[in-house]
Amino acid sequence: MSEHKTLCAWVEEELHTKHSEQYIALIHPSTHFCMNCGRSAAKAENVCKPKKIK
Ligand SMILES: [Zn+2]
Repeated sequence: MSEHKTLCAWVEEELHTKHSEQYIALIHPSTHFCMNCGRSAAKAENVCKPKKIK
């Protein structure tokens, strides 16, 4: 799977329900959140508008 896909795209494909372990790996531990949709992610490239947490 591509690590550069955004969480928005993954959720559209229902990764969070079909492969929750993989989804958790993308969001935990979160270092950035998305200024657009509010999701948080472990890597900046996985959200559409990354903003660093702290
Ligand atoms: Zn987003």
